Amino acid sequence: MSYYRERKLWNEAIETMPQEQMRLLQLDRLKRQVAYNYNNSSYYKQKFEEIGARPEDIKTFEDFALIPVMTKDEHRRAQEESIERYGNPYALMACAPREKIVRINSTSGTTGTPTLYTLTQHDVDVVNEMHARKYWRAGVRPGDVMLQALSLSMFTGGLPLSQGIMHMGACVVPVGIEGGTQRVLDFIRLTSPSAMIATPSFGQHLIEKCLELVGKPAKDLGLKWFFCAGEPGGGNPEVRKMLANGFGAKVFDHTGGGHAFHGISCDEPPDQFSGMHFVSEDHCLLELVDPNTKQRIEMTDGAVGEMVFTFLDWEGGPFMRYALGDMLRLYTKPCSCGMPGIRFKIVGRADDMLIVKGVNVYPGAIQSALLKFAPQVTGIFRILLDRPGPLVKPPLRIKLEFGQEVEEGDLPALERRMLAHFKEHVRVAPRFEWVPQGTIPREMKKTKFIEIVS
Ligand SMILES: [Zn+2]
Repeated sequence: MSYYRERKLWNEAIETMPQEQMRLLQLDRLKRQVAYNYNNSSYYKQKFEEIGARPEDIKTFEDFALIPVMTKDEHRRAQEESIERYGNPYALMACAPREKIVRINSTSGTTGTPTLYTLTQHDVDVVNEMHARKYWRAGVRPGDVMLQALSLSMFTGGLPLSQGIMHMGACVVPVGIEGGTQRVLDFIRLTSPSAMIATPSFGQHLIEKCLELVGKPAKDLGLKWFFCAGEPGGGNPEVRKMLANGFGAKVFDHTGGGHAFHGISCDEPPDQFSGMHFVSEDHCLLELVDPNTKQRIEMTDGAVGEMVFTFLDWEGGPFMRYALGDMLRLYTKPCSCGMPGIRFKIVGRADDMLIVKGVNVYPGAIQSALLKFAPQVTGIFRILLDRPGPLVKPPLRIKLEFGQEVEEGDLPALERRMLAHFKEHVRVAPRFEWVPQGTIPREMKKTKFIEIVS
């Protein structure tokens, strides 16, 4: 039992596997997966027919990359076809017989028709394992209480995550954020969690409100870990420092809900970030593509592209070359923590990318630049557009809050310093529209940084 607690990794054999060996395992599983998909789903069979190939023609990753990328829009169209043919939206892509399907999940989007995928018990076990790998390597052990303060009604942050925490033997409090800040604080008081899982924005909100609502600062709540999810902020040194100082906790960025793509950053000081280690490589093949052309991008250190994933050793409804709309930056150089494998940072949603005078700008980069000026600015902001992006007619308008201590007369000088910083680091010259602290609503779920105004 003591060995169990003291071991550093949940699944040492897989998690320490050298990259070359991992690629062989992936290729072997990929060949079996494509044959399985082809044989069990007319939808996938058609994908091969489009390029005139059969599963046995897929001998390398490059062969596999000839299969067209599937987008969310295409997924929605396939769901409509599935309803027409089978009476439900998932049967067309499901590869396992109906009696083996034990869960239907949705990808994380909150707008538009939900896109669904299915899991068998085997797939649920895979997902549980991935959550266990992440929290275990962060140092969580049985006996730790983890407060789950994400939106529980969104599948990625809900039940699959609770189950994964229980699977590794830690204790989960799935309070969710639907009940509001006070309820989360009530459950912190009642259950004394050592870890919290929440969006960075919600973390910041708690830090701001804690003294007023419970009579003590957030760093006295007893949290040892703050796990960021749902927003890119957890990879941003300014956000990480704010959370680490505010809670007196270690800050980890992590991702992965009910599917096969999971990652977590390593244990490092908040002002550093070496990317999230891709912990589910044995069950997920990752590729990067250009968000517009969907052409494959070389997986080199520093490459940025839209992530495309393929589930490996998945029985239910396995995604194959699926583009979920997230933009990743890749890290391939060895990590100082010594763990093998590639790492990534989620830069933002492909649909959140803005182009200002030919420069690509993500809300995460704006947040990072603004937080350099905290506490004179709160870091809460909105990008105001008069029509949907990505093309923005300059100047880029940013509504932002000045901090409590700042007088309106100080703003012109502050703004000059900020403009210089933005020009150098974000390569845009925005127009700042100031409002007092507390004016912009704090989002408990996923913050929408872009607002369309007329
Ligand atoms: Zn590392």
